[in-house]
Amino acid sequence: MKVENIKKLAQLLAESKDTMVLTGAGVSTESGIPDFRSPDTGLWSQMDPMELLSRSALSRNPANFWTRSEPIFREMSTAQPNPCHYALARLEEKGLIRGIVTQNIDSLHQLAGSKSVLEVHGHLRSAHCPGCGAHTDMRPLLDQVAKGDSPPRCSCGGVFRPDVVLFEDPLPDAFHVAWQWARVCDLLLVVGSSLEVAPVCWLVPAASRLAIINMGETQCDDMAEVLIRGKAGEILTDLVKEAEGLQRQP
Ligand SMILES: [Zn+2]
Repeated sequence: MKVENIKKLAQLLAESKDTMVLTGAGVSTESGIPDFRSPDTGLWSQMDPMELLSRSALSRNPANFWTRSEPIFREMSTAQPNPCHYALARLEEKGLIRGIVTQNIDSLHQLAGSKSVLEVHGHLRSAHCPGCGAHTDMRPLLDQVAKGDSPPRCSCGGVFRPDVVLFEDPLPDAFHVAWQWARVCDLLLVVGSSLEVAPVCWLVPAASRLAIINMGETQCDDMAEVLIRGKAGEILTDLVKEAEGLQRQP
């Protein structure tokens, strides 16, 4: 059944002129980054991410925000891509997908070689000062916090905040770009997302055709033409082989 579905999906990719891939936490769990929606896993067993990584938590107690999130940000920003990330980069290189919209903030798609990546929840490469708008690299800030100097401050006195979308933040511009794309693409391929988190779950009904690769159920399974359950890394690796085989046929 799985083999048949991978063949069918490869066919859909070959037919589509504009495939958008939407990725979620499931593509990074194989890189050792825990999905915070899976309770009691790793770093998230000690805290409620919605409470910690919120706009109000940062403004209420910036030192606490940075001190508690530093180990999480560090783990995410030192992780390495896995076979799923490399397979998606390969599909783009072969012209089989146009690009990726990701909920992940770990930059692993770019590290694997993907060129067109829209990060709808931001990223951990940098931070900015809301006071004066100054930008800075994230790594020195994390080192500073790890040494007990928290929160990291800009030369203007403002507290830096990471360039990620926090809970309670307004919708980022990248999301509007993603939504416009979802409306016009030929195929939306969801990989490793449970599609529970707004606003990305709103992208799915906008797309004309849908395929889903995910470990567990999603609330959009009924809408998918192809639905494959299992580890994203293995499935994507098989999909690349199948799709490249189709491309070689005259
Ligand atoms: Zn500043």
